[in-house]
Amino acid sequence: MTVTDATDRTAGGTGGDEGRVLELCRQLLDELPPRSTDKVTFLGRQFDLGLAWVHFPEGHGGLGLSPKLQRTVNETLWSAGAPSAGAGNPIGHGMGAPTVVTHGSEAQKQRYLRPLFTNEEIWCQLFSEPGAGSDVAGLSSKAVRDGDEWILNGQKVWTTLAHVSRWGMIVARSDPRQPKHKGLTYFVVDMHAPGVEVRPLFQITGEAEFNEVYFTDVRIPDAERLGDVGEGWRVSLTTLMNERVSIGGQVPRRGSGFIGELTKVWKERRPEGAPGRAEDLDTFMRLWIRAEVLRLTNIRAGQARTQGTPGPEGSIGKLAMAELHKDISSFAVDLLGAEGMIFPDGYPMERPSTTALWRNPQQSFLRSRANSIEGGTTEIMLNILAERVLGLPGDIRVDKDRPWIDVPRS
Ligand SMILES: Cc1cc2nc3c(=O)[nH]c(=O)nc-3n(C[C@H](O)[C@H](O)[C@H](O)COP(=O)(O)OP(=O)(O)OC[C@H]3O[C@@H](n4cnc5c(N)ncnc54)[C@H](O)[C@@H]3O)c2cc1C
Repeated sequence: MTVTDATDRTAGGTGGDEGRVLELCRQLLDELPPRSTDKVTFLGRQFDLGLAWVHFPEGHGGLGLSPKLQRTVNETLWSAGAPSAGAGNPIGHGMGAPTVVTHGSEAQKQRYLRPLFTNEEIWCQLFSEPGAGSDVAGLSSKAVRDGDEWILNGQKVWTTLAHVSRWGMIVARSDPRQPKHKGLTYFVVDMHAPGVEVRPLFQITGEAEFNEVYFTDVRIPDAERLGDVGEGWRVSLTTLMNERVSIGGQVPRRGSGFIGELTKVWKERRPEGAPGRAEDLDTFMRLWIRAEVLRLTNIRAGQARTQGTPGPEGSIGKLAMAELHKDISSFAVDLLGAEGMIFPDGYPMERPSTTALWRNPQQSFLRSRANSIEGGTTEIMLNILAERVLGLPGDIRVDKDRPWIDVPRS
């Protein structure tokens, strides 16, 4: 949809809630033309008008409307050249904000949401540990209460964008005598606090998007706890459910995104009329159809979601996206022939300020290997779908009801 379409729909009397958000979009675009306005100012005004997350409450970047209308807002603003808050702060925008709005106090919502949306404060997610990835509830980082503060010790790993983050969502063990899911507490930790050390971890692409993070006697004010003491797992689930949708639930325009990139490679390497292998066309069409089916599935899941927090169906998009991205980028590299073996970026050994999934086929081929690990592995997505959607018998969990402290671990 173009801005003109949006304007026409407003002028033509698109009524109710959709008409209201389109009118607000038009007001924003008139007040602050995106091409001549700096990003922070534009996003700040977008937040104040309730167009950041339309399903959030008024005063917190929303209008209390259906989350479906966010698509209308995004299409309208982006087609006019507006910046995307999620691109600069993917973890804060996709996971931090829904967790804060669901579990945070009024003061926390006021403090965190606006600078998160404007990208003035970047967020990271500190869940995985060397001994706890898929089984994140088994984690060992410890939070011990000391008056109005907590003292945090432990190590996290694979922490995307920790090196540019102001805040981290962290879950730590506050009561080791409880079974693993019950003794956890969730905090927002200041990544600039004394005792926080962030060290880069380089990926197969030569970039360090992620890090290992060490916490040594880090003091967290109790005011930065999200949810009740011992309720950390419940809060974490909000983060994790939103993570899956934020990674796998995207709805790009038809033929854009990964499949759009593959189409460009196809057109360059297989000009119309040039001799080519019939099975290549077959593979290309199969991938295109899978991309379109995923897009439509994600639209349907979004339509079914009347509240903000997604359910286990979010795992479908995450699972399908991971396998699709790997297959698309493998095929793109195949189309390059011998050139596909050369990595055009070199290995920059840099710490980027955001995550890049497709810069060229070779980079994407390497980066997309992580898609079936990050945000929950493909095997874990299959387990969730089997148990929570299909109702099949559960995985064997021998440690579920034992005090965490009594569970043997290496
Ligand atoms: C690019 C990237 C970015 C990441 N960013 C972050 C981040 O910002 N914050 C963060 O907290 N974490 C992050 N992670 C970590 C990610 O969430 C974990 O790597 C993931 O959850 C898997 O955990 P693990 O690596 O410990 O593997 P393990 O849990 O040790 O799994 C090893 C293998 O065993 C399989 N497996 C494990 N349990 C089961 C089971 N019950 N049934 C069947 N198979 C099973 C897994 O599927 C996998 O194949 C990131 C990872 C990557 C690759």
